[in-house]
Amino acid sequence: MLPIARNTALRAVRSHSRLPFLQRLASTLAILEQKEGALNSASLGAVTAGQKIGGSIHGFVAGKNVKGVAEQAAKVNGMEKVIMVDNEAYERGLPENYAPLLVENIKKGGYTHVIVGHSAFGKSLLPRVAALLDVQQLSDVMSIESEDTFVRPIYAGNAIHTVQSTDSIKLFTIRQTSFPPAEAEGGSASIEEGTDPKAECPTQWVSENLAKSDRPELATASKVVSGGRGLKSKEEFDRLIPPLADALGAAVGASRAAVDSGFADNSLQVGQTGKNVAPQLYLCAGISGAIQHLAGMKDSKVIAAINKDADAPIFQVADVGLVGDLFEKVPELTEKLKK
Ligand SMILES: Cc1cc2nc3c(=O)[nH]c(=O)nc-3n(C[C@H](O)[C@H](O)[C@H](O)COP(=O)(O)OP(=O)(O)OC[C@H]3O[C@@H](n4cnc5c(N)ncnc54)[C@H](O)[C@@H]3O)c2cc1C
Repeated sequence: MLPIARNTALRAVRSHSRLPFLQRLASTLAILEQKEGALNSASLGAVTAGQKIGGSIHGFVAGKNVKGVAEQAAKVNGMEKVIMVDNEAYERGLPENYAPLLVENIKKGGYTHVIVGHSAFGKSLLPRVAALLDVQQLSDVMSIESEDTFVRPIYAGNAIHTVQSTDSIKLFTIRQTSFPPAEAEGGSASIEEGTDPKAECPTQWVSENLAKSDRPELATASKVVSGGRGLKSKEEFDRLIPPLADALGAAVGASRAAVDSGFADNSLQVGQTGKNVAPQLYLCAGISGAIQHLAGMKDSKVIAAINKDADAPIFQVADVGLVGDLFEKVPELTEKLKK
């Protein structure tokens, strides 16, 4: 089920008691994401996770002109020290040179835990770091039982696995919807220059094409309105879903079938291979509720679904269900909300 690294014993456990004396020895490196001098606040979930482990917490930030980001990170509540590497080579977070950079700094700091968000950055970075350190990575950790025992989903979230790691360095990505960002104020950490191995980077960042939207950011929105294959076409998706989202002040999401059919941009995909969301309200129309979709939204506080099939699996997780034709119900709901 889970690959076992050569020097690793990673095993499922039933329960585990906290070991306070080990906690005092724990030292966490929280990898912080930044872009063009702006700290990604969602990445401060790694600090929150570090607080659950106990012991000291250092932040790590690298990129071009990151002094300001380091100063911002130094104010984060619970942060003891910020390690900063100011080098343009790390600005785009390319894992090919970021991984050796991190390894050097992990070794130098002697950290017991290294935590990064389960974001595109964290997911491409941490496996390389784990391979270089010859330890086992844990992915998508949802909760921390103790300094060596973690809870994570398997089988697209259909089973929850409690695992114990005996690796000397525990490396893990965290589900950001499970660890809210640490408080941005209240800390007064020192800032220290990190080690820069200046590793060669065989890949080159060429360009990026980001979807722009005035709506709330999908991954962090408090309300999400999603559409699925039941919308039938891009024209119908655009006609029905964004107006309902706007009436609620919500972000727009989509199922993979809707994305694959070209109804919505793939940055809007919710699910196992898309984004994880946990809003206060997740309202979806024309989505059947496949397990891969549920994996990305079932932690939502209130789930409301519109589907013409009363037996659709989405109704098994929905708090509120409306059986009916979405082409009738969605415009009706939008009009009522506007009033
Ligand atoms: C490895 C892997 C990863 C995957 N990752 C993801 C992922 O990240 N996210 C994801 O969403 N899926 C993912 N999938 C795909 C997933 O298995 C489903 O195929 C997909 O979620 C189905 O999308 P859907 O619910 O929009 O479409 P369908 O399953 O086709 O459902 C459409 C629904 O619309 C309803 N409907 C139709 N017409 C109307 C109407 N007029 N009014 C009301 N309701 C109507 C139907 O009753 C039906 O329930 C993944 C699959 C695999 C194998």
